[in-house]
Amino acid sequence: MSIDTTPTRTARTAAPARRPGTRRQVGRKRGEGQWALGYREPLNANEQSKKDDDPLNVRARIINIYAKGGFDSIDPGDLRGRFRWMGLYTQRKPGIDGGRTATLEPHELDDTHFMMRIRIDGGALTTEQLRVIAKISNDFARGSADITDRQNIQLHWIRIEDVPEIWNRLADVGLDTTEACGDCPRVVIGSPVAGISADEIINGQSAVDEIKARYIGSPEFSNLPRKFKTSISGDPGQDVVPELNDISFVGVDHPEHGPGFDLWVGGGLSTNPMLAQRLGAWVPLAEVPDVWAGVTRIFRDYGYRRLRNRARLKFLVADWGTEKFRQVLEDEYLQRKLIDGPAPETPVSTRDHVGVHRQHDGNHYVGFSTPAGRVSGDILTRAAEIAEAHGSRRLRTTPMQKLLVLDVAEDEVQGLIADFAGLGLSADPKSWQRSVLACTGIEFCKLAIVETKAQAVRVADELEQRLGSLDNPITVHINGCPNSCARIQTADIGLKGQLVPGAGGNQVPGYQVHLGGGLGLDAGFGRKLRGHKVTADELPDYVERVAKAYLADRQDGERFAQ
Ligand code: SF4
Repeated sequence: MSIDTTPTRTARTAAPARRPGTRRQVGRKRGEGQWALGYREPLNANEQSKKDDDPLNVRARIINIYAKGGFDSIDPGDLRGRFRWMGLYTQRKPGIDGGRTATLEPHELDDTHFMMRIRIDGGALTTEQLRVIAKISNDFARGSADITDRQNIQLHWIRIEDVPEIWNRLADVGLDTTEACGDCPRVVIGSPVAGISADEIINGQSAVDEIKARYIGSPEFSNLPRKFKTSISGDPGQDVVPELNDISFVGVDHPEHGPGFDLWVGGGLSTNPMLAQRLGAWVPLAEVPDVWAGVTRIFRDYGYRRLRNRARLKFLVADWGTEKFRQVLEDEYLQRKLIDGPAPETPVSTRDHVGVHRQHDGNHYVGFSTPAGRVSGDILTRAAEIAEAHGSRRLRTTPMQKLLVLDVAEDEVQGLIADFAGLGLSADPKSWQRSVLACTGIEFCKLAIVETKAQAVRVADELEQRLGSLDNPITVHINGCPNSCARIQTADIGLKGQLVPGAGGNQVPGYQVHLGGGLGLDAGFGRKLRGHKVTADELPDYVERVAKAYLADRQDGERFAQ
């Protein structure tokens, strides 16, 4: 079989920009901080911090020193650097408005409480685990809990004194926060329906589990150039946004070898967004952890460390191209050739699994929409109780901020749905509620300029009242700052938080609009429209105008991003 490395999604793929003959040449002469080429100096502050001490060592200091000494005993280098490797960030000091975000020093924005990210690889939770997280939320996090768009559960209001006890409780049920943030392999996102879906190509959960067991918390990968995001899914609906991960294993049926995974590398948003590129290689399930380690080693050794904004894997992939990347992987890191493989079929859009679906064993799984990921300790406690009352012991979080209950017998489905409705979680949500996504925003994030979660709920409610549910839902993603935690570039309507001119000419919270992004068949980045800046107050009116224009002009069945 010949190698076909044609990207499955070529439309509007933006390779990282270069200006030939200028900055790139300079960078090459000086090196870009690639260890494998000997460029180990000079170090920026982040690289120096990682060199000074393996960030994983901060765990012992948290337990033995900081939890006993309190917030003021924390070394600033640990606080703003290495704590992230333990899934801990200081949260934003309450009462500081978005206009002051850029004007203050980082320490002036620090509250003495932390956000804590609990990694849930593959989104797989038992009801017992969920109950423990819920109790931690109520005991130590003022009842806060958000389902993130990488299947984690994030808590807020954590005191450093409570962290060891929280870790103990998590460890008792096989959970942790290790490398949930930082320059390291983040949570491995996996198909929320791995092993149960009736139309699954292949179940990748064992690879998710093995990567976690072998490599997470290992010093081998605790100093990468930047964050490293992984997805593994054998779902034909490509339910883990594989286009946007540094490495993705995408389920595909090989005509000779059977079900396995197509290997993609280099996806990522924020600066110079790029969709992941196919290497044209088919990987059997048993080899996924080794191939993953090979790609991660390339990133560690050849990744660009000199400038933080060029340190993601996508820049190396863009410079090398897929052919060279695969060759280095095979020759230097695997010492064998990979098997050529076909491209997976592209789904119309990314699956979110909301609603009732039949499992391959005859039971059902039910997907519930959450209000932009916002839940609570009480809601999670009740979710675990209700799931068990209806015969389920397993749940999954999804990259769309949804919550799934697995293994539900047919005659329990309606009762489960009714009980979850009492929690405000719907298995048949209105289209606008289902298709909004929001990052943490100004309530807790130190980088935020505007609010996001309440805004997402407000926009969804308003649009539902004004326009009703749509047959082709319009996705609305809201970020609280110019970063892209809520994947704004791949939404139909992407909203980037910033200050914008208000009615009286003064600067007020609002958004820069990006229109026409998508995933699946419509994969590509939305266009930033000059002049399309909208204040937070006006947002529902703006979205309504855009939606009406789309509804008036569309051809039969035409999707927003087409
Ligand atoms: Fe914070 Fe910005 Fe990320 Fe939102 S997009 S969570 S405001 S860094």
